[in-house]
Amino acid sequence: MSDPRTSGLIEGASGDWEIVIGLEIHAQVISQAKLFSGAATRFGAEPNSQVSLVDAAMPGMLPVINRECIRQAVRTGLALGAQINKYSVFDRKNYFYADLPQGYQISQYKQPIVGPGFVTIDLEDGTSKDIGIERLHLEQDAGKSMHDQHPDLTFVDLNRSGIALMEIVSKPDLSSPAEAGAYLKKIRTIVRYIGSCDGNMEQGSMRADVNVSVRRPGEGLGTRCEIKNVNSVRFVMQAIVYEASRQVDVLEAGGTIALETRLFDPQQGETRPMRSKEEAHDYRYFPDPDLLPLEFDDEFIAAARASLPELPDLKKARFEADFGLSPYNAEVLTAERQSADFYEELLEELAKLSGKPAKEVATRAANWVIGDLFGHLNKAAVAIADSPVSAARGAELLQLVDDGTLSGRMAKDVFEEMFASGRSASEIVAEKGLRQVSDSGELETIIDRVLADNPTQLEQYRAGKDKVLGFFVGQVMKATAGKANPKVVNELLAKKLKG
Ligand code: ADP
Ligand code: MG
Repeated sequence: MSDPRTSGLIEGASGDWEIVIGLEIHAQVISQAKLFSGAATRFGAEPNSQVSLVDAAMPGMLPVINRECIRQAVRTGLALGAQINKYSVFDRKNYFYADLPQGYQISQYKQPIVGPGFVTIDLEDGTSKDIGIERLHLEQDAGKSMHDQHPDLTFVDLNRSGIALMEIVSKPDLSSPAEAGAYLKKIRTIVRYIGSCDGNMEQGSMRADVNVSVRRPGEGLGTRCEIKNVNSVRFVMQAIVYEASRQVDVLEAGGTIALETRLFDPQQGETRPMRSKEEAHDYRYFPDPDLLPLEFDDEFIAAARASLPELPDLKKARFEADFGLSPYNAEVLTAERQSADFYEELLEELAKLSGKPAKEVATRAANWVIGDLFGHLNKAAVAIADSPVSAARGAELLQLVDDGTLSGRMAKDVFEEMFASGRSASEIVAEKGLRQVSDSGELETIIDRVLADNPTQLEQYRAGKDKVLGFFVGQVMKATAGKANPKVVNELLAKKLKG
């Protein structure tokens, strides 16, 4: 049976079902102030310490649009290859909730700031797929109800009230949990590249509403359920698997799917009903009379476009073309802008030190960054921007391998120490007198001794037991305290044993 996580197919008793997914991603805009007020937006502040009279919905307060939030939404739209609407409208979406003092959320409905676009996702089997974006609109976030502060009271923190959110709505183009995960990661990569959202899902600055339905292959769309506020890539994928299987069970038992909103419980790994889906007209959307429609000129859009950095897809393509990297390496190195910058700096330094063209040293450098450096950074939970080993020092280490001073094995140990102490490779090499022994005269003497000391193994080798070669290499390495150049040892041994 195929794995529904990657295939998007669920095998029911009466045949296969396809999973159909659409995501609504809420991404908090990076800005100093809220969407319609001057209150601060810092995460983790004392409850209700960042609330202006506008955010608390005091009578008579008027919203004033924050230009920076608009600019960030436009930049994001451009990065999603989407249409920028030069005319858009803010609407009131009316509903009652304790954490929404206005009694309505200011959002955009019929005329959003950004129209259709698409992003390309790369899948594990090496193929890629374009996922349609329906729209991106701006809206205010609500406050937060706190149920854990008092035994029988709920408290409300309005710090989040009024913070700008971009809601990025995908078309129902995602056909498996893996695609949904890749899409979410891609959106996160893009907003982080351009600095419009920090993408921190643990802190809630990015979260997804996950719409799931199932259908028979070739049939039209089935009825969906919407799973609210899922806050990690892993949970999104788990929620889809659970929800799609649940729907298949209901349908195969002859039931029907009710259009409803559900919650994902990560502890139980299941979704549970929250409320039946309000019809859109229940919100009584209407244009906010306190806000004028947004209108931009081409200049504003051009300036936003000019402020964009090289985007991840282009960077990845350039890394493959210019440096000859594998698609996998290029993908990993460009997933975060800081990683890509680190890699490019390393490559530049290494090319300088070695005098070789970047392309010749690029793959080795990539393997080192992805294997050694990322491995250590992950284990220590340190961001690449705070790496104790700089790009220049990484290049120095790699060059010491390249010029034969260090073996690969020795370089790993030296790196370990660089990472722990922050010292440079040359310092460590000098202090410990580390130098790989490549001199064949010196090594031959040692090899002769090893062979003489181990007559039994020598006999075994001569009797055809090729594997004993590894034993001899090990003995030579031991005799030189790991400093022998393994390549030279192998060559010399092969020659000696033949003779
Ligand atoms: P709402 O605002 O009520 O949530 P939208 O029309 O904005 O409704 O759609 C929300 C999301 O649901 C979109 O991402 C869309 O792709 C997705 N979606 C729509 N129909 C389906 C379906 N049958 N199965 C899965 N996802 C769907
Ligand atoms: Mg929705």
